[in-house]
Amino acid sequence: MSQQELEITIFPNPALRHVAEPLTPELIKTPLVRETAAAMIRAMYKHHGVGLAAQQVGCPFAIVVMDTDHPQTGKKAPRVFYNPKIVEADPEMIQLDSPGEGCLSLPYGYHQPVKRYENVRVEWLDARGRVKDRWFSGFESIVIQHEVDHLDGRVFVDHLSSLKQKMFLAKVRKAHRQYWKGAKRTNSALQHAHKTPNFNLIRMKEWEKQRRVKNGEVSQTVHQVQEEVLQPDQDIGAGN
Ligand SMILES: [Zn+2]
Repeated sequence: MSQQELEITIFPNPALRHVAEPLTPELIKTPLVRETAAAMIRAMYKHHGVGLAAQQVGCPFAIVVMDTDHPQTGKKAPRVFYNPKIVEADPEMIQLDSPGEGCLSLPYGYHQPVKRYENVRVEWLDARGRVKDRWFSGFESIVIQHEVDHLDGRVFVDHLSSLKQKMFLAKVRKAHRQYWKGAKRTNSALQHAHKTPNFNLIRMKEWEKQRRVKNGEVSQTVHQVQEEVLQPDQDIGAGN
C-alpha cells in the first residue's frame, strides 16, 4: 500500500478552527489512527516543523506529533500524543524572541513572540492507549502549548493584540491577492491553500458553523478573509 501524503492546511481554512475530537484507547489502536499519526510525522519532517497537530492536516482527531531536537541533532525521535491536555502550569512565562513563533499553517512570513508557560504538565494517551503524564520545559513547553492550541481550534495569532491580528490578516489578504493575480502561483504553500483539503473538509465546515453559532469565538474579520481568499470573485486574476 502506498504511503499517504498529507498536505498542510493553510490559514484561513476553517479546518484550523475545528476543536479536535478525543480518541478512545480502542480507536488509537486502529490502523486508521496509527497510519494518520505516521503520515503526520512524515509531513512534519517534510516541512521542517518541530510539531504538528491533526487540524493542520485536515484530520478531526486529537493527535499531536513533535520532535523538538531534530533541527539541532539531525536525528529523528518523533513523539506522538493522543488527547494531550495541559493539566498544570507554573506561573513563570517565557517567549520565543526574534523572530518569535511561526506556524506551518501560516506560511505568510509572519512570526511573533507569544507568552507561554515555561513549565507545563501534560497528560496524554500513548500508542497503546495508556495514560501518560510529564512536565515539559522551555522550548518543548512552548511547542506543546502551541500544538494543544491547534487541537482547541486556536492559532498563535489568536494570542496577539487586535492590532497585530489586523496586520496579520492584511498580510494574508495581500498574499492571496497576489496569488490570484498569478504572481505567487509558484508558492506551494498557497497552492495547497487553494486545493480542497484531503480529509473531511465538509464535515469540518459543519463543525465550524456549529461552533461559530455556539461560541461566537471566531471574529467576523477572519470569516471575511476566509471567504475572500478561498473563494474570490471569478474575475480576480483570470487570464493573468
Ligand atoms: Zn502551528
